Amino acid sequence: MKRREFVSSAILAAATLPTLRFVPALARSGPIADISAVTADGRPVTLSSAEVREFAESLKGQLLLRGDAGYDEARLLLNPSFDKHPALIVQPADAGDIQKAVNFARELNLLLAVKCGGHSHSGQSTCERGMQIDLKSFRGATVDATAKRVSVKGGSLLGLVDRESMAQGLVTPLGTVSHTGVGGLTLGGGFGRIARRYGMAIDNLNSMDVVTADGQLRHASSRENPDLFWGLRGGSGNFGVVTNFEFNLHPMQRQVIAGKVTFPIEKARDVLSMYADYARAAPDDLYFDPMLVLPPGGAPGVAQLDVCYSGPAKDADRALAPLRKVGTPMSDTIKAMDYVEVQRSGDWADARMLGTYIKGGFISAMPADLIAALIDGFKGDPRRTTAVFFQHCGGACGRVPEDATAFANRYAMANMMIMSGWRHGDDPTDHIEAARRHWSTVEKFTRGFYVNDMPREATAKDINANYRGNYKKLAALKTKYDPSNLFRLNANVQPLRA
Ligand SMILES: Cc1cc2nc3c(=O)[nH]c(=O)nc-3n(C[C@H](O)[C@H](O)[C@H](O)COP(=O)(O)OP(=O)(O)OC[C@H]3O[C@@H](n4cnc5c(N)ncnc54)[C@H](O)[C@@H]3O)c2cc1C
Repeated sequence: MKRREFVSSAILAAATLPTLRFVPALARSGPIADISAVTADGRPVTLSSAEVREFAESLKGQLLLRGDAGYDEARLLLNPSFDKHPALIVQPADAGDIQKAVNFARELNLLLAVKCGGHSHSGQSTCERGMQIDLKSFRGATVDATAKRVSVKGGSLLGLVDRESMAQGLVTPLGTVSHTGVGGLTLGGGFGRIARRYGMAIDNLNSMDVVTADGQLRHASSRENPDLFWGLRGGSGNFGVVTNFEFNLHPMQRQVIAGKVTFPIEKARDVLSMYADYARAAPDDLYFDPMLVLPPGGAPGVAQLDVCYSGPAKDADRALAPLRKVGTPMSDTIKAMDYVEVQRSGDWADARMLGTYIKGGFISAMPADLIAALIDGFKGDPRRTTAVFFQHCGGACGRVPEDATAFANRYAMANMMIMSGWRHGDDPTDHIEAARRHWSTVEKFTRGFYVNDMPREATAKDINANYRGNYKKLAALKTKYDPSNLFRLNANVQPLRA
């Protein structure tokens, strides 16, 4: 999708910056001082050295404190503008460690963040002076080709699942950038290149294992804890730490027809008009998204289509015909490609060089007024990358009833996003303001937003409205499984007051 294109250009522009080096985490061997931390509601609390030491010794994995090797890598997210310092970082070795960490955080009422791939746009997977559970040490994917299932540990990244599944000629639909975390992506919904064909990531879950706020490890499926299974599918990280995702797999050919078609920015209106006409009508096997980019440094902008067709090769030309009618592109890289390679094609070289701000919302159509507002407000600045991009929804994603899972925004034709990206270290104020200004002219065309692209400033009221008719059930579930709102750094559902 567009995120990766936008970032590729910004990263190229920032290529003079030094590459960050990450060192492996090491357990602390020296003394531990008392630690100043905060509770979930922001009150200061001191953790005694004895209780921290006892907790650390109970873990099979690691506890990282400020100054430890690996601490900085763990606390930082993909977006370096979230520069927070947790008081404690737990890197669990197994589900038992996660249970211990959850119990420790609950008993002391600590602010708690859970990190998988660290791609949160709103910085939810790190925290200032609370506890972070960093699932980096908790990765793995095991394919059962006979049962057509893949079992994925809660800290895994998408690329691992694609690689292991495709090695057996099987696939489950995940996202479009291989270093995104399975945890965050799936719990919020999960759109990707084959979602129109096979549904969202949540539509392909067979079961999950989750450590809930009471420290219990629970199995959630349509047969066991079905209420929890419902809430976990789209309810963000509200209900606990998922230790294992079990996805259904589909047979998948190795080669797909994929690539990018790039036009000069002057063709933006034609590209968007074609999307307006064809996004809904396209076959389920076709995923395509427009992106408008003005790169930093004042280089000319482009309007680009990112395309992946995974249907029968003989039907590809017919499926792609409307895209070809836009005109003669500057370049067209569409060809037969290995699906796993396509899934890696947008990965970021070293993304932590780039601060980003994003606004997004779902659209059910793209009227001429929206196209006009997108183009009129699209103003670049040589200090930043400015981008408008989309993620193609519809198809199988839209054929699931709104109340079948916690994810309610099934009507969407696309997820529309506006992004500003700046060199890490620069003052972000103007860049954030520019994205907000542009967004204010197009927001009225959206209905609801993708919780995984939740804006930093989303209020409880926004989140409530976004879950639409499902919010009431989610609030009841939250009250049942997390009455003290231990898991609050997400698209937070407030427990009901007694
Ligand atoms: C470069 C980029 C590309 C993207 N591409 C896509 C895409 O193609 N499709 C798409 O749908 N979205 C996409 N997104 C959005 C993405 O889905 C969200 O950013 C998502 O939150 C990332 O998950 P993560 O595990 O990497 O994030 P994290 O920052 O690690 O976590 C995000 C949230 O999920 C919670 N969480 C994570 N793992 C667990 C777990 N195991 N148990 C409980 N809670 C957990 C965290 O507590 C946090 O609230 C993209 C984002 C970026 C930055």
